[in-house]
Amino acid sequence: MSARVLVVDDQEANVRLLEAKLKAEYFEVVTAYDGPSAIEKAREEQPDVILLDVMMPGMDGFEVCRRLKSDKRTRHIPVIHVTALDQPEDRVRGLDSGADDFLTKPVDNLPLFARLRSLLRLKELLDELRLREERAEERGVSLSENLNDLVDDARILLASGEERVAQHIARKLPDNLFVDVELSPERAVELSSQGYDLILVDLTAKGYDALRICARIRSNNETRNVPILAIVDPDEMSRSVRALDLGVNDIVNRPIDSGELNARIRTQLRRKRYADTLRERLEDSLEMAVIDPLTGLNNRRYLSSRLQQASELVASGEMAASVVIADLDHFKRVNDTYGHDAGDAVLVEFAERVRKQLRAIDLAARFGGEEFVVLMPEASLADARIGAERLRNAIAEQPFRLPGDAGVLNVTVSIGVAQIAPGEDGDSVLRRADEALYRAKASGRNRVVADEAAQAA
Ligand SMILES: [Mg+2]
Repeated sequence: MSARVLVVDDQEANVRLLEAKLKAEYFEVVTAYDGPSAIEKAREEQPDVILLDVMMPGMDGFEVCRRLKSDKRTRHIPVIHVTALDQPEDRVRGLDSGADDFLTKPVDNLPLFARLRSLLRLKELLDELRLREERAEERGVSLSENLNDLVDDARILLASGEERVAQHIARKLPDNLFVDVELSPERAVELSSQGYDLILVDLTAKGYDALRICARIRSNNETRNVPILAIVDPDEMSRSVRALDLGVNDIVNRPIDSGELNARIRTQLRRKRYADTLRERLEDSLEMAVIDPLTGLNNRRYLSSRLQQASELVASGEMAASVVIADLDHFKRVNDTYGHDAGDAVLVEFAERVRKQLRAIDLAARFGGEEFVVLMPEASLADARIGAERLRNAIAEQPFRLPGDAGVLNVTVSIGVAQIAPGEDGDSVLRRADEALYRAKASGRNRVVADEAAQAA
């Protein structure tokens, strides 16, 4: 995994040492010797990860980290504090300044590269999400910047092979978390997909294959994004490295310092919340881009793109396709007489009936106001006409129920149909269907008129 690493340390010898280690593993290295220039380099060079010394004259590493994490241009870049400090309270301070991880000097290769790999994997995922979010913003879907840092009431699954150890770990956890303890490995894997925010796995119990649990949680689609925090013995470094390589997000050494454990849990939960938020917004924005919020049918934009595809398939002779434009008769009267709530209720009910008449491959969209379009792939003009007639009947045969005690209302629809001619684009076929719709209105409404013009083509 090649990536760009920014190395920051006020001692040139330290920078050179880390640079040599990283370059030997084919990382690209950028360097800085003080806080302000580190921030500048981070903005300009957009490294994939930052190795940041804590003790530096002027601006220390904690402050640099805080500034990086509060700047939109750099907050997504993982930061690993590298320092001679090895007191738990310094680790906690580092993690609370927003650092993603912590390494002590002198830096051992194994944990260094295991943690780099783990953070880079995570960053790859977050970059992907960020990129899609930027695209959503470009499309005019506005996303607010409200990322909540607070992580109360998180649910944690604690998997351990020994009751006594499990209870010991549980006592170190903050009170505002819900913790379930599970001693059976099989059951722990099963439970892991039950919506936990974080899974804590004890790697210290003898005869308990905790690494297998981690691997299985990671390989399951439902749980691959749930953070895993492993508890290890510090003299079992190879086990820690193996755990990180299996996709464990972070490691806490025994004896457990509860401040450090809590800080690492907070970091993981914050990161998960961030990734979940990006993912949710993405889904919302994708949905907003294609769905009409009132009726739940597709919107005009989505219909247009699908219509374009259909035109291309027609042009290449791969299929026939037709469009149906349906417009509610005298809809303005509904709004004027019963109010807009009643009008909306009629539109919703109308959309529901349209949906029931469709074949699975048909695509219905609200085109605007009380006008709806159905794209019918693999349908000749005659097929589409039959479908349209069925739809007209489904609207007229039964009155619509109005909200409250406003009773029921007879609603009818006029429909124009046109088949896409080879070489014809979406706008053109919609225009012909619209002209047919106009004729349906002009000749008395509640009827289907097909445009025969392109049928011979
Ligand atoms: Mg220093």
